[in-house]
Amino acid sequence: MYWNKEFETMPWQEVQNYCLSKFPAFLEYLKNNSQFYKDRLSSIKSEDIKTLDDLKSIPFLTKNDLRDAQADTDRKNPLGKIQVVDTEDIVQVISSSGTSGRPVYYGATKKDLGIWNDAIANVYYTAGVRKGDIVAHTTGIPLFAGGSSYFEGIRNIEAMTVWPGNLSTSRMLETIRNLHCNVIQATVSFNLYLAERCQDALGVDPRDLGITNIIGGGEPGLGEEAIRQKLKDAWNAKTVREIMGLADVMPAMWGECEEETGMHFNAQKYVMIELIDPETEEHLPWEAGVVGEVVYTNFSRGATPILRYRSADLVRLEGMSCPCGRTSPKIRCIGRADDLIIFKAMNVYPSAIRDVVLTHYKEHLTGQMQVVKDSPEQVRFDTAIPVDIETTLPEEKQADLKQKIESIVRDTLNIRVEANLVPPETIQRTQYKSPLIRIREKDEQ
Ligand SMILES: [Zn+2]
Repeated sequence: MYWNKEFETMPWQEVQNYCLSKFPAFLEYLKNNSQFYKDRLSSIKSEDIKTLDDLKSIPFLTKNDLRDAQADTDRKNPLGKIQVVDTEDIVQVISSSGTSGRPVYYGATKKDLGIWNDAIANVYYTAGVRKGDIVAHTTGIPLFAGGSSYFEGIRNIEAMTVWPGNLSTSRMLETIRNLHCNVIQATVSFNLYLAERCQDALGVDPRDLGITNIIGGGEPGLGEEAIRQKLKDAWNAKTVREIMGLADVMPAMWGECEEETGMHFNAQKYVMIELIDPETEEHLPWEAGVVGEVVYTNFSRGATPILRYRSADLVRLEGMSCPCGRTSPKIRCIGRADDLIIFKAMNVYPSAIRDVVLTHYKEHLTGQMQVVKDSPEQVRFDTAIPVDIETTLPEEKQADLKQKIESIVRDTLNIRVEANLVPPETIQRTQYKSPLIRIREKDEQ
């Protein structure tokens, strides 16, 4: 049933106490080995940090803090001020995807990798992977968090792990068929793309490939019932499971169990999570229905540890108890704080727009859509928000669909969109994430 029964079924309060008990020694480690943390923690006595409330005296870290800390690097400290061990003890480097600025690089010691192997295996085990499965791991970019660390986590379960990551889409599909893979691990958008390409590339209906479990993450999407159903139908899969992690903290930490009602936290042995209100920065309770931002502390990471890191990921708590017996919070990621857009006074995430549109009209859509901004900085819209939406309908039937989409979004979300229907494969596919937002080209009207 479980990869780590003790931690996965321990009452959540006990888990939090266990994590808190790690703080005093962790803070001393940071102060003794890092000028960056020594400066930030100068007024804090490590032994005084005992309760959740005590954590409030420790300043939050943001991506910009980390980026600034990495502005000056040299051969001795290639990871800048966030490097807490000697370079000779770092055995691997991974990078954030850099979608919102210069990427930040993180290191791992040999011990760190052992910890990831265990925690990431825990995530995939929760997501249903077992010895005997044949898993296609499709991430094509070794430097990203979802590269070798996912591969090694899956292999740690002793599933037969196939990594065709850098092959063309056709060769990848061929590999999946030749080796009889039954599980596909891919980002949501790439998984949809693989299913779209299958007939052309192999002359085979993806539903005939024998895929039983689709595992996806890396971007919002699988929390949306319509996308989930679309993937399930496309591959005729029995299960669809979502996973999530962060290069900044640990590549995978959340995994969805057989109930398929949200992702459990699976890294409780190595990482402490807090839930805060992104505006007031006050703690929020771990209770069903609460929406907040997750703050992470990886008290076990040696090379580039992170203390109270604001993820900017907004999550909704789906529950604190589950028929599977796991006791950790169960969440859906509802969007990135950076992706928030405002129509007049209404806040909305692009993923919410996609959810509404697909829920009602998925039979005419590929599932790919993008909000179009005039500039990267644009947050506010005073006129209808332009959204490119791929449709499979012929042109003569599009006017009716356009009007229906615009009405359903207005009625459901209280915002106005301008649905720009485009043919399939107009929106650029990538092997990694397909952003839900794009910036208007200069020569575009
Ligand atoms: Zn569960």
